Amino acid sequence: MSQPSPEVYEEGRGMDAHNQVMRELRAEKGSKQYDPEEPTRVWIDEDNTPDGVVQSLTIILNTGGCRWARAGGCTMCGYVAESVEGGSVGVDALMSQIDSCLEHEAEEADEESPLVKIYTSGSFLDEREVEAEARRRIAETFADRKRIVVESLPDFVQADRVSDFVDVGLETDVAVGLETATDRVRHDCVNKYFDFADFEAAAAEAESVGAGIKAYLLMKPPFLAESEAIEDMKASVRRCADVDGCHTVSMNPTNVQRYTMVDDLHFRGGYRPPWLWSVAEVLEDTADVDCIVVSDPVGHGSDRGPHNCGECDDKVQLAIKDFDKRQDPSVFSEVTCECEHTWDAVVERETTYNLPLAE
Ligand code: SF4
Ligand SMILES: [Zn+2]
Repeated sequence: MSQPSPEVYEEGRGMDAHNQVMRELRAEKGSKQYDPEEPTRVWIDEDNTPDGVVQSLTIILNTGGCRWARAGGCTMCGYVAESVEGGSVGVDALMSQIDSCLEHEAEEADEESPLVKIYTSGSFLDEREVEAEARRRIAETFADRKRIVVESLPDFVQADRVSDFVDVGLETDVAVGLETATDRVRHDCVNKYFDFADFEAAAAEAESVGAGIKAYLLMKPPFLAESEAIEDMKASVRRCADVDGCHTVSMNPTNVQRYTMVDDLHFRGGYRPPWLWSVAEVLEDTADVDCIVVSDPVGHGSDRGPHNCGECDDKVQLAIKDFDKRQDPSVFSEVTCECEHTWDAVVERETTYNLPLAE
Protein backbone atom coordinates (compact mmCIF):
# COMPACT_ATOMS: atom_id res chain seq x y z
CA MET A 1 0.00 0.00 0.00
CA SER A 2 1.44 3.38 -0.89
CA GLN A 3 2.35 5.73 1.91
CA PRO A 4 0.70 9.15 1.98
CA SER A 5 3.26 11.85 1.44
CA PRO A 6 2.91 15.54 2.17
CA GLU A 7 3.52 16.35 -1.47
CA VAL A 8 0.48 14.35 -2.58
CA TYR A 9 -1.77 16.58 -0.54
CA GLU A 10 -0.01 19.85 -1.13
CA GLU A 11 0.28 19.58 -4.86
CA GLY A 12 -1.57 22.44 -6.49
CA ARG A 13 -3.30 23.39 -3.29
CA GLY A 14 -0.97 26.19 -2.24
CA MET A 15 -0.76 24.87 1.30
CA ASP A 16 2.95 24.24 1.52
CA ALA A 17 3.70 27.01 4.01
CA HIS A 18 1.00 26.05 6.54
CA ASN A 19 1.90 22.39 6.27
CA GLN A 20 5.59 23.11 6.75
CA VAL A 21 4.90 24.97 10.01
CA MET A 22 2.51 22.29 11.21
CA ARG A 23 5.01 19.50 10.55
CA GLU A 24 7.67 21.33 12.54
CA LEU A 25 5.30 21.84 15.47
CA ARG A 26 4.12 18.24 15.43
CA ALA A 27 7.72 17.02 15.39
CA GLU A 28 8.10 18.56 18.87
CA LYS A 29 5.65 16.16 20.39
CA GLY A 30 8.19 13.40 20.99
CA SER A 31 7.39 9.74 20.76
CA LYS A 32 4.83 8.81 23.38
CA GLN A 33 3.31 5.48 22.35
CA TYR A 34 -0.39 4.63 22.59
CA ASP A 35 -1.78 1.13 23.07
CA PRO A 36 -3.54 -0.02 19.84
CA GLU A 37 -5.87 -2.26 21.93
CA GLU A 38 -7.33 0.68 23.87
CA PRO A 39 -9.59 3.46 22.58
CA THR A 40 -8.28 7.01 22.84
CA ARG A 41 -11.35 7.95 24.89
CA VAL A 42 -14.85 6.72 25.64
CA TRP A 43 -17.69 8.33 27.56
CA ILE A 44 -21.44 8.32 28.12
CA ASP A 45 -23.40 11.51 27.49
CA GLU A 46 -26.71 12.79 26.18
CA ASP A 47 -27.30 14.13 22.68
CA ASN A 48 -30.02 15.98 20.84
CA THR A 49 -30.93 13.89 17.76
CA PRO A 50 -33.81 13.92 15.25
CA ASP A 51 -35.43 11.37 17.63
CA GLY A 52 -35.09 13.66 20.65
CA VAL A 53 -32.55 13.79 23.47
CA VAL A 54 -31.07 10.34 24.07
CA GLN A 55 -28.20 8.68 25.94
CA SER A 56 -25.10 8.36 23.79
CA LEU A 57 -21.95 6.26 23.83
CA THR A 58 -19.10 8.29 22.34
CA ILE A 59 -16.00 6.45 21.21
CA ILE A 60 -12.74 7.93 19.97
CA LEU A 61 -11.12 5.00 18.24
CA ASN A 62 -7.37 4.87 18.17
CA THR A 63 -6.49 4.36 14.50
CA GLY A 64 -3.38 5.23 12.58
CA GLY A 65 -4.53 8.83 12.71
CA CYS A 66 -5.47 11.34 10.09
CA ARG A 67 -3.51 11.28 6.83
CA TRP A 68 -3.93 14.99 6.37
CA ALA A 69 -2.48 15.62 9.84
CA ARG A 70 0.61 13.66 8.88
CA ALA A 71 1.06 15.96 5.90
CA GLY A 72 0.89 18.91 8.30
CA GLY A 73 -2.82 19.30 8.69
CA CYS A 74 -5.27 21.69 10.27
CA THR A 75 -3.99 24.68 12.22
CA MET A 76 -5.99 23.91 15.39
CA CYS A 77 -5.90 20.11 15.47
CA GLY A 78 -3.79 18.37 18.08
CA TYR A 79 -5.48 14.99 17.76
CA VAL A 80 -2.66 13.53 15.73
CA ALA A 81 -0.54 13.76 18.86
CA GLU A 82 -2.78 11.06 20.31
CA SER A 83 -2.84 8.44 17.59
CA VAL A 84 -0.78 5.31 17.21
CA GLU A 85 2.75 6.04 16.10
CA GLY A 86 3.54 5.24 12.52
CA GLY A 87 0.40 4.11 11.03
CA SER A 88 -2.31 1.57 11.09
CA VAL A 89 -4.26 -0.50 13.58
CA GLY A 90 -5.41 -4.01 12.60
CA VAL A 91 -8.94 -5.37 12.66
CA ASP A 92 -8.46 -7.40 15.86
CA ALA A 93 -6.96 -4.48 17.75
CA LEU A 94 -9.84 -2.23 16.65
CA MET A 95 -12.35 -4.84 17.83
CA SER A 96 -10.54 -5.02 21.19
CA GLN A 97 -10.98 -1.27 21.45
CA ILE A 98 -14.72 -1.68 20.78
CA ASP A 99 -14.91 -4.42 23.46
CA SER A 100 -13.37 -2.17 26.04
CA CYS A 101 -15.86 0.58 25.09
CA LEU A 102 -18.73 -1.88 25.64
CA GLU A 103 -17.28 -2.83 29.04
CA HIS A 104 -17.05 0.85 29.92
CA GLU A 105 -20.68 1.35 28.94
CA ALA A 106 -21.81 -1.66 30.98
CA GLU A 107 -20.01 -0.28 34.03
CA GLU A 108 -21.10 3.34 33.67
CA ALA A 109 -24.66 3.21 32.34
CA ASP A 110 -27.83 1.42 33.44
CA GLU A 111 -28.85 0.65 29.89
CA GLU A 112 -27.38 0.42 26.41
CA SER A 113 -27.17 3.77 24.64
CA PRO A 114 -29.54 4.11 21.68
CA LEU A 115 -26.98 6.42 20.04
CA VAL A 116 -23.38 5.42 19.31
CA LYS A 117 -20.91 7.99 17.97
CA ILE A 118 -17.56 6.89 16.60
CA TYR A 119 -14.76 9.32 15.90
CA THR A 120 -11.22 8.41 14.95
CA SER A 121 -9.35 11.72 14.96
CA GLY A 122 -9.33 11.17 11.21
CA SER A 123 -11.83 9.37 8.98
CA PHE A 124 -13.66 6.23 10.06
CA LEU A 125 -14.64 5.68 6.41
CA ASP A 126 -11.02 5.82 5.20
CA GLU A 127 -10.14 2.17 4.63
CA ARG A 128 -6.51 2.86 5.35
CA GLU A 129 -7.60 3.82 8.88
CA VAL A 130 -10.41 1.32 9.41
CA GLU A 131 -10.42 -1.66 7.07
CA ALA A 132 -13.69 -2.72 5.46
CA GLU A 133 -13.83 -5.86 7.62
CA ALA A 134 -13.53 -3.86 10.85
CA ARG A 135 -16.17 -1.43 9.61
CA ARG A 136 -18.62 -4.28 8.93
CA ARG A 137 -17.92 -5.99 12.25
CA ILE A 138 -18.46 -2.72 14.09
CA ALA A 139 -21.77 -2.23 12.22
CA GLU A 140 -22.84 -5.74 13.33
CA THR A 141 -21.80 -5.08 16.92
CA PHE A 142 -24.07 -2.05 17.16
CA ALA A 143 -26.88 -3.33 14.92
CA ASP A 144 -29.30 -3.48 17.86
CA ARG A 145 -28.88 0.24 18.65
CA LYS A 146 -31.05 2.92 17.09
CA ARG A 147 -28.62 5.38 15.58
CA ILE A 148 -24.93 5.57 14.75
CA VAL A 149 -22.72 8.51 13.84
CA VAL A 150 -19.37 7.93 12.15
CA GLU A 151 -16.86 10.65 11.44
CA SER A 152 -15.32 11.13 8.01
CA LEU A 153 -13.77 13.67 5.70
CA PRO A 154 -15.93 14.10 2.57
CA ASP A 155 -13.48 12.21 0.31
CA PHE A 156 -14.29 8.89 1.95
CA VAL A 157 -18.09 9.21 2.10
CA GLN A 158 -19.03 6.50 -0.40
CA ALA A 159 -22.44 4.90 -0.67
CA ASP A 160 -21.24 1.31 -0.19
CA ARG A 161 -19.26 2.20 2.95
CA VAL A 162 -22.13 4.11 4.52
CA SER A 163 -24.65 1.42 3.61
CA ASP A 164 -22.83 -1.12 5.82
CA PHE A 165 -24.57 0.67 8.71
CA VAL A 166 -27.87 1.42 6.99
CA ASP A 167 -28.19 -2.23 5.92
CA VAL A 168 -28.10 -3.54 9.50
CA GLY A 169 -31.05 -1.29 10.32
CA LEU A 170 -29.26 1.64 11.94
CA GLU A 171 -30.27 5.26 11.46
CA THR A 172 -26.92 6.45 10.17
CA ASP A 173 -25.25 9.83 10.13
CA VAL A 174 -21.86 10.83 8.83
CA ALA A 175 -20.17 13.55 10.88
CA VAL A 176 -18.09 15.82 8.67
CA GLY A 177 -15.59 18.35 10.01
CA LEU A 178 -16.59 21.05 7.55
CA GLU A 179 -15.39 23.77 9.97
CA THR A 180 -16.92 26.60 7.91
CA ALA A 181 -19.00 27.00 4.79
CA THR A 182 -16.59 29.71 3.56
CA ASP A 183 -13.94 28.09 1.35
CA ARG A 184 -11.42 30.87 1.86
CA VAL A 185 -11.57 30.57 5.66
CA ARG A 186 -11.39 26.76 5.49
CA HIS A 187 -8.35 26.90 3.22
CA ASP A 188 -6.39 29.85 4.61
CA CYS A 189 -7.26 29.86 8.31
CA VAL A 190 -7.93 26.16 9.02
CA ASN A 191 -5.64 24.70 6.34
CA LYS A 192 -8.25 22.14 5.35
CA TYR A 193 -8.08 21.14 1.73
CA PHE A 194 -11.64 20.43 0.57
CA ASP A 195 -14.40 22.75 -0.65
CA PHE A 196 -17.99 23.31 0.40
CA ALA A 197 -18.99 21.65 -2.88
CA ASP A 198 -17.25 18.45 -1.66
CA PHE A 199 -19.32 18.60 1.52
CA GLU A 200 -22.50 18.96 -0.55
CA ALA A 201 -21.44 16.00 -2.69
CA ALA A 202 -20.77 13.89 0.44
CA ALA A 203 -24.20 14.80 1.81
CA ALA A 204 -25.82 13.73 -1.48
CA GLU A 205 -23.87 10.46 -1.43
CA ALA A 206 -24.94 9.72 2.15
CA GLU A 207 -28.54 10.63 1.35
CA SER A 208 -28.55 8.29 -1.65
CA VAL A 209 -28.44 5.34 0.77
CA GLY A 210 -30.73 6.90 3.36
CA ALA A 211 -28.08 8.33 5.69
CA GLY A 212 -27.88 11.85 7.08
CA ILE A 213 -25.12 14.35 7.71
CA LYS A 214 -23.98 16.09 10.85
CA ALA A 215 -21.80 19.12 10.11
CA TYR A 216 -19.10 20.17 12.56
CA LEU A 217 -18.24 23.84 12.45
CA LEU A 218 -15.28 25.61 14.05
CA MET A 219 -15.74 29.06 15.50
CA LYS A 220 -12.78 31.39 15.23
CA PRO A 221 -9.87 29.67 13.57
CA PRO A 222 -6.69 31.79 13.69
CA PHE A 223 -6.42 35.03 11.68
CA LEU A 224 -10.09 36.01 12.10
CA ALA A 225 -11.27 38.87 14.29
CA GLU A 226 -14.11 38.15 16.74
CA SER A 227 -16.72 39.85 14.55
CA GLU A 228 -15.54 37.98 11.44
CA ALA A 229 -15.70 34.70 13.34
CA ILE A 230 -19.28 35.43 14.40
CA GLU A 231 -20.39 36.35 10.89
CA ASP A 232 -18.60 33.33 9.42
CA MET A 233 -20.50 31.02 11.79
CA LYS A 234 -23.90 32.63 11.24
CA ALA A 235 -23.51 32.26 7.48
CA SER A 236 -22.14 28.73 7.82
CA VAL A 237 -24.97 27.46 10.03
CA ARG A 238 -27.48 28.81 7.51
CA ARG A 239 -25.71 27.33 4.50
CA CYS A 240 -25.39 23.92 6.17
CA ALA A 241 -29.04 23.92 7.19
CA ASP A 242 -29.93 24.41 3.52
CA VAL A 243 -28.04 21.28 2.42
CA ASP A 244 -30.35 18.30 1.89
CA GLY A 245 -29.65 15.58 4.43
CA CYS A 246 -27.84 17.87 6.89
CA HIS A 247 -30.14 17.73 9.91
CA THR A 248 -27.69 18.73 12.66
CA VAL A 249 -24.94 21.31 12.99
CA SER A 250 -22.47 21.18 15.85
CA MET A 251 -20.86 24.61 16.09
CA ASN A 252 -17.83 24.49 18.34
CA PRO A 253 -15.46 27.20 19.49
CA THR A 254 -11.75 26.64 18.95
CA ASN A 255 -9.68 25.60 21.94
CA VAL A 256 -5.91 25.78 22.06
CA GLN A 257 -4.43 22.30 21.63
CA ARG A 258 -0.76 21.42 22.01
CA TYR A 259 1.56 21.12 19.01
CA THR A 260 -0.61 23.26 16.74
CA MET A 261 -0.27 26.59 14.98
CA VAL A 262 -3.02 27.97 17.20
CA ASP A 263 -0.90 27.03 20.23
CA ASP A 264 2.12 28.77 18.76
CA LEU A 265 0.13 31.95 18.08
CA HIS A 266 -1.50 31.84 21.51
CA PHE A 267 1.87 31.46 23.23
CA ARG A 268 3.10 34.59 21.47
CA GLY A 269 -0.02 36.62 22.32
CA GLY A 270 -1.49 36.43 18.83
CA TYR A 271 -4.56 34.32 19.43
CA ARG A 272 -7.48 34.39 21.86
CA PRO A 273 -10.19 31.69 21.77
CA PRO A 274 -13.67 33.08 21.09
CA TRP A 275 -15.85 34.61 23.76
CA LEU A 276 -18.73 32.48 25.03
CA TRP A 277 -20.91 35.50 24.28
CA SER A 278 -20.03 34.98 20.62
CA VAL A 279 -21.16 31.34 20.77
CA ALA A 280 -24.43 32.45 22.38
CA GLU A 281 -24.87 35.18 19.77
CA VAL A 282 -24.60 32.71 16.88
CA LEU A 283 -26.93 30.16 18.47
CA GLU A 284 -29.50 32.83 19.24
CA ASP A 285 -29.30 34.39 15.78
CA THR A 286 -29.64 31.11 13.89
CA ALA A 287 -32.30 29.53 16.13
CA ASP A 288 -34.85 29.89 13.33
CA VAL A 289 -33.09 27.48 10.93
CA ASP A 290 -34.72 24.16 10.11
CA CYS A 291 -31.93 22.11 11.65
CA ILE A 292 -30.75 21.11 15.13
CA VAL A 293 -27.89 23.43 16.12
CA VAL A 294 -25.79 22.52 19.15
CA SER A 295 -22.48 23.55 20.65
CA ASP A 296 -20.13 21.90 23.10
CA PRO A 297 -17.49 24.41 24.19
CA VAL A 298 -14.48 22.42 25.40
CA GLY A 299 -12.34 23.95 28.14
CA HIS A 300 -14.84 26.77 28.71
CA GLY A 301 -13.73 29.47 31.11
CA SER A 302 -10.03 28.67 30.76
CA ASP A 303 -7.33 30.68 29.07
CA ARG A 304 -6.95 28.01 26.36
CA GLY A 305 -10.68 27.50 25.87
CA PRO A 306 -13.58 29.79 24.90
CA HIS A 307 -14.06 32.25 27.75
CA ASN A 308 -15.62 35.47 28.99
CA CYS A 309 -14.46 37.32 32.11
CA GLY A 310 -14.08 34.40 34.52
CA GLU A 311 -17.17 35.36 36.54
CA CYS A 312 -19.91 34.43 34.10
CA ASP A 313 -18.37 31.56 32.12
CA ASP A 314 -20.19 28.77 33.96
CA LYS A 315 -23.53 30.54 33.63
CA VAL A 316 -23.17 31.07 29.89
CA GLN A 317 -21.92 27.51 29.39
CA LEU A 318 -24.99 26.25 31.24
CA ALA A 319 -27.26 28.32 28.97
CA ILE A 320 -25.52 26.85 25.91
CA LYS A 321 -26.00 23.29 27.20
CA ASP A 322 -29.63 24.12 27.91
CA PHE A 323 -30.04 25.46 24.37
CA ASP A 324 -28.50 22.25 22.98
CA LYS A 325 -31.33 20.22 24.50
CA ARG A 326 -34.29 22.55 24.05
CA GLN A 327 -33.31 24.75 21.06
CA ASP A 328 -34.97 27.67 22.84
CA PRO A 329 -33.07 30.96 22.29
CA SER A 330 -34.75 32.63 25.29
CA VAL A 331 -32.24 30.81 27.56
CA PHE A 332 -29.70 33.46 26.59
CA SER A 333 -31.78 36.41 27.73
CA GLU A 334 -31.51 35.06 31.27
CA VAL A 335 -27.73 35.50 31.52
CA THR A 336 -26.00 38.86 31.77
CA CYS A 337 -22.64 40.15 32.98
CA GLU A 338 -20.64 43.37 33.05
CA CYS A 339 -18.18 41.87 30.57
CA GLU A 340 -20.74 42.04 27.78
CA HIS A 341 -19.62 45.67 27.37
CA THR A 342 -16.03 44.56 26.82
CA TRP A 343 -17.22 41.91 24.37
CA ASP A 344 -19.29 44.53 22.52
CA ALA A 345 -16.19 46.72 22.20
CA VAL A 346 -14.11 43.79 20.95
CA VAL A 347 -16.72 42.85 18.36
CA GLU A 348 -16.85 46.45 17.21
CA ARG A 349 -13.13 47.26 17.19
CA GLU A 350 -11.03 44.12 16.88
CA THR A 351 -9.56 43.68 13.43
CA THR A 352 -7.21 41.14 11.93
CA TYR A 353 -4.25 43.50 12.43
CA ASN A 354 -4.85 44.20 16.12
CA LEU A 355 -5.93 40.88 17.56
CA PRO A 356 -6.46 39.88 20.20
CA LEU A 357 -7.85 43.21 21.43
CA ALA A 358 -8.63 41.93 24.97
CA GLU A 359 -7.69 38.89 27.01
S1 SF4 B 1 -9.06 18.40 12.05
FE1 SF4 B 1 -9.49 16.40 11.11
S2 SF4 B 1 -8.66 16.62 9.01
FE2 SF4 B 1 -7.72 18.24 10.22
S3 SF4 B 1 -5.78 17.39 10.92
FE3 SF4 B 1 -7.30 17.03 12.55
S4 SF4 B 1 -8.13 15.00 12.22
FE4 SF4 B 1 -7.10 15.65 10.31
ZN1 LIG C 1 -18.55 38.08 32.47
